[in-house]
Order: sequence, then structure tokens, then C-alpha cells
Amino acid sequence: MIPFLDFGAMHSELRPRLDAAYSRVIDSNWLILGRELEAFEHEFAAYCGARNCIGVGNGLDALFMTLKAMGIGPGDEVIVPSNTYIATWLAVSYAGATPVPVEPDVSTYNIDPARIEVAITSATRAIMPVHLYGQAADMDPIVELAKRYGLKVIEDAAQAHGARYKGRRVGRLGDAAGFSFYPGKNLGALGDGGAIVTNDDALAEQVRILRNYGSRVKYHNEVKGFNSRLDELQAAFLREKLSVLDAWNERRCEVATRYREGLLNVGLVLPHVPDWADPVWHLFVIRHPNRDQLQAHLTMSGISTMIHYPIPPHLQGAYVEMGLPRGALPIAEEIHDQVLSLPMWPQMRIKDTDQVIANCVATLNRG
Ligand SMILES: *Cc1c(COP(=O)(O)O)cnc(C)c1O
Repeated sequence: MIPFLDFGAMHSELRPRLDAAYSRVIDSNWLILGRELEAFEHEFAAYCGARNCIGVGNGLDALFMTLKAMGIGPGDEVIVPSNTYIATWLAVSYAGATPVPVEPDVSTYNIDPARIEVAITSATRAIMPVHLYGQAADMDPIVELAKRYGLKVIEDAAQAHGARYKGRRVGRLGDAAGFSFYPGKNLGALGDGGAIVTNDDALAEQVRILRNYGSRVKYHNEVKGFNSRLDELQAAFLREKLSVLDAWNERRCEVATRYREGLLNVGLVLPHVPDWADPVWHLFVIRHPNRDQLQAHLTMSGISTMIHYPIPPHLQGAYVEMGLPRGALPIAEEIHDQVLSLPMWPQMRIKDTDQVIANCVATLNRG
């Protein structure tokens, strides 16, 4: 049996350090907005090469509060990819603004910069590219367009901690970036967590107020804020996880290289990596017209796979209000119909990767 990812293997490698992190927190008698969070915020900002990091409750809140802090709300439009996890769209909706979907480049699965300009209207305030599956979107033309039209750029970096675009780390490629520390992400907590990273000091200050009931000074509430803070325990765990992030991303790269070599020319669409991208392989996603059959065969062989994602946001019940029928966003729909994520985690052994490869090849040969 090969799991989709193995938390046991990940945690056992770090167990003494995670235990020590827990002990630091319980011994400190300080559980919310304390020293662990402050230290993690400094460390993660430095990791991204940015001036500010603000820890929040989850990735969705990171994106949503960034929009709020930018003053984006009702009547405004935000350009988002048509193929993404629904959280990207929900962040826009929670702010009271309207997500405007733009189709991806079918080879990279990231928003196609060439399709953005026609989607810009007088109501557009921001572009929110997603670095899907751990690979950076093509940011230069996006930032150039945003400058030309006076728009903000917010990176949804929830799947791409440490990924690089033209040598530069994601998180400081636009005006701000939202990260998720959901357990399965490359930098995952032992529970929910998220952060905003930005070089904009005023924006950072605004998000700090928003995450803590709209208050700078306890019991003085300047604005209607939220309760969305990264707690001390998660921050302490994340500091330990951050110290191995690059090493673990490197091991994901080794797994991906083995997959790409072993699955070459077997009838699958493999991930395309443009020469300017250094992906961190949050997911290893292949495409096949008979995806469901391939997945069923792998399941029968004891190999767990997942689909990211089976239904695009515009076809979800949550977005019936947009009135976009099947066929409205054909590239996103084709991707969602054909993608399959193979097992991937940093500690995955070569023999397990080879077993996944052998089973894929055997299934495809059978037709
Ligand atoms: C995980 C994820 C989010 C949301 O993160 P949470 O911490 O689960 O709220 C947002 N966008 C993308 C692309 C994600 O994968």
C-alpha cells in the first residue's frame, strides 16, 4: 500500500524537535500573540526575502484580510484563475468583491497572462494569481499589466512555499502574498495556519489590526476586525518545519525527477516546467483522458491518488449565482476532468516511487 502522503514519516523525522517546541510553549504560559509567533514571523519574512510577515488563522483568511486591508470590497472585481482551489475565489467573495475568472495556460495550469487584459474593466482592483501545485505563475507580464492599469497583485502562494520565479522566491513578487500552513502544504502546521507576506509596511500594519479584532491597543477597536491569529503552538511547530523546508522541497524535487523520467513517453501529459520556474512540487499532477479509469486501477493496486480538483469553482453549488454553465470555461473544465495527483511527500522512498511508475505504465499498456 502506498499512501498519498505519509504524515507519520514526516513527523517521526522531526519528533524530538516538535516535542521541544510544544514544551517551550506550555512552559511559557503564553498561548496567543507571543514570542513564538513573533519569531516565526521574522523567520518566514526573511525566508521569503520580504519585510513583513503576519501570521493568521488560515490561508483563506490571509487572502481575504489582505483584500480587506487594501480596501477592496463591494462593487470591485478581482481577477482569479478559473482553475484553482475554491479558497482563492472565496477570499474575494468574503471581501464582498466579485471574482472574475481568467483561463489558465493549459501546459502550466497557471493563469495565462495573455488572457488577463480583456478581463480588466473599470471595476477591476486586483489580480490574484495562484502558484498552483507548487510552481510559480508567469509573474512579470502580470505585474507589468497591473502597473499599467493601477491594480494590486496578490499572490496566492498557499501551495508554493519556497518556489522560485526567475530565481526570486514567491511571496514578494507582487504587493502581498497569502500562504497557508494547512498540514498537507509544503510548510504545514499540526493544524490550521496561514500568513500574509508583504513589503508594504502600511498594509502589514492594517492586517495586524484586522486579525486581532480591529485593535492595536487591547480593548480599543478602531475597525470591525476579525479573530484570525496564528497561535503560539502552531508558530512554534512551524519554526521547526521552516528549518527543514528547503531540504524537504529538495527531496520532493528528487521524487518528481524520478516520476518525470519513469513516466516519459508512456501516454501521460507530464508537468511542464518553463525554464524560469523552480517548482517545489506540492503536488505531482499528470493528465490523462481516461483519468477515472487510471485512478481506479491504481486504487486496486493499493496506490492512493487524489484529484486536485474534481470540480472547477464556477461549476460548484457555491457559485451558481455566476450563471456560468459547463462549457463556459473549457480549459479549466478539461483540466479538472483529466488531472490526477500521484503520491508525493519528502520522505517517499525510491522503491515506492518506482512502484507507482510501474503500475501507471502497466495500466496504460493494458489500454
Ligand atoms: C490551501 C489553499 C488555500 C487556503 O488555505 P487554508 O489554509 O486551507 O485556508 C488557498 N488557496 C490555495 C490555492 C490553496 O491550495
